[in-house]
Amino acid sequence: MIDKRLRNRYSRQMMFPAIGEEGQVKLSKGNVVIIGCGALGSNIATLLVRAGVGKIRIVDRDFIEYHNLQRQVLFDEDDIKAQLPKAVAAERHLKKINSSVEIEGIVADANYSNIEGLCSGADVILDGLDNFETRFLLNDVALKHRIPWVYGGAIASNGMTMTVIPGETSCFRCISPILPDPGTTPTCETAGVIGTIPAVIGALEATEAIKILVGAEVNRELITVDIWTGAFNHLKVEPCADCPACQGRYDFLENRFVIKTTSFCGQSRAVQVVNTEVRDFSLKELEARLKPVVAEVSYNEFMLRFTADNHEMVVFPDGRAILRNTTDESLARGLYAKYIGT
Ligand SMILES: [Zn+2]
Repeated sequence: MIDKRLRNRYSRQMMFPAIGEEGQVKLSKGNVVIIGCGALGSNIATLLVRAGVGKIRIVDRDFIEYHNLQRQVLFDEDDIKAQLPKAVAAERHLKKINSSVEIEGIVADANYSNIEGLCSGADVILDGLDNFETRFLLNDVALKHRIPWVYGGAIASNGMTMTVIPGETSCFRCISPILPDPGTTPTCETAGVIGTIPAVIGALEATEAIKILVGAEVNRELITVDIWTGAFNHLKVEPCADCPACQGRYDFLENRFVIKTTSFCGQSRAVQVVNTEVRDFSLKELEARLKPVVAEVSYNEFMLRFTADNHEMVVFPDGRAILRNTTDESLARGLYAKYIGT
């Protein structure tokens, strides 16, 4: 049963026969994880929180910059001034939209060491990512734990989405068997993106999540959209007989590392350093340690920034660091070892 106050809130959605009161009750018990909260994640999270999904976890590793505001509809200028990570700002805004939803924002880089924990208990996982590697990892986790997931991507005026039901449909690796080499695929940083395409793909992804939660039949095709021409296409995809993930080989989940660097190219160049051995990292202690040796250091509860050797580095409580204005991974690794240590 839906209580009276919530019955009013969701009345228009409950009038839709495929949802009804029964569907609304199922939504209120639903547990959704959104990995990545940029433009896609912003749209997906807003729609699912408004729809009354019971529990939503949002995972993102980044903070907000001005060039995000054109399409990342959850954020505003105050979030940038407050130097909030996306997951924290998202949680704050979403709680104001619907206080009856349990919302948890987690600032983290999703990788093999944490992704199974982040996704545990989820009824559906949604892709708000901007990179292939984490998407392959998501595919592995979803297949391993038999959790439905919805793939989505958007770039320039184009987007695509596909729903993966483990054991039933094609998976992401069936349609894209190998990880493209870094720099060979266009990104929002190199090809640009108009704000309307992630809104459409995000809406399609959120709809699939609602359908999964209420037990309706999902879309079993790859949908591609060009928002500029208005073209929608549906492609039939068949499970691939020699897909490693479908056969239970989870290469991305099993690809272990201690320290890993990833460079982000394009207008905001940066290198991320992830250290999977760091747990419970104190920014306060780091500040005390750095103060006598670096030019500038400041921190809030979400991140610490310092400048050393003419480079600005941002450190997060999960031990992760981002070195800005460079794509030099060995420099990032060196500065990490020198100033943060492991
Ligand atoms: Zn597969």
